[in-house]
Amino acid sequence: MALTLDPATREALIARVRFYRDLGLTEFYRRPVDPALLAQFEADAAAAPQHDSGPPQSPGAPAPALSPSKGLVSENWETRPQPTQSQEDSAIPPRKSITAPPQVAAAVPAANRAAALELIREEIGDCTRCALHKGRNKLVFGDGNPAARLMFVGEGPGADEDAQGIPFVGKAGQLLNNMITAMGLKREEVYIANVVKCRPPGNRTPEPDEGNTCSPFLFRQIDVVRPQVLVALGATAATYLLGQRQPLAGLRGRVHAFRGMQLIVTYHPAYLLRDPRQKKEAWADLQIAMRELGLKPPSRV
Ligand code: URA
Repeated sequence: MALTLDPATREALIARVRFYRDLGLTEFYRRPVDPALLAQFEADAAAAPQHDSGPPQSPGAPAPALSPSKGLVSENWETRPQPTQSQEDSAIPPRKSITAPPQVAAAVPAANRAAALELIREEIGDCTRCALHKGRNKLVFGDGNPAARLMFVGEGPGADEDAQGIPFVGKAGQLLNNMITAMGLKREEVYIANVVKCRPPGNRTPEPDEGNTCSPFLFRQIDVVRPQVLVALGATAATYLLGQRQPLAGLRGRVHAFRGMQLIVTYHPAYLLRDPRQKKEAWADLQIAMRELGLKPPSRV
């Protein structure tokens, strides 16, 4: 007898799997089931009166615990007609995926980088490739030295950036400027860009289709500027640059090899404004960048 889940358990299980996928957990394994327990369960199930499965559970509700004996497999699983992959997957929406980064482009001589960036900007044009253009005032392409040794990547423009067409000019931008100064650099010496070039409504995180549509332009900007060190500000930048969702905690504090450059992941300045206690950690990350760049912090007067 193949085990089928009642609708409420199935819904709860789908919600749980969705939750795990949102956390970036995508591999699931079936625990082997004790055949004796399973036989007992099947006997109990056969003897039990048929009953109504009850109202469907809301997707946010916690999944009921599945004991091994009431797991998803039966003892003769291999020999039974198995649901096809598409049947199994159809109820669980596919994980919203981040597309793989494009191949690294050929190096552009430093003298031609400004023009190369201009070409990318022209290609973006008056963009309508994703829905974000609908709320846009100004497209925010990038700012700074086209041949910078250090580049910062944020998430997407906020209200101030959308109004001015320049990245990081609001409160978070002020903090980023202070961080750059603390590193002994001027803002004009670095290059700054975002994953998406148009402001997401209400400053929400870009949807995967928005990030996936826009990020190839970011990769092209990175390949043109070709900084020695790239700093991803926050989880969204880290996710699109690295091509996979991972908790920030596991990415910070070290150097990642990235397209022939060094990538360092740290907190987004907007997050640091909300939780200034993390500034110390962010400073530690920036010091890694400074070490790689051979920079010493400016002496205090
Ligand atoms: N936050 C970002 O991620 N980018 C900006 O340009 C401004 C705020």
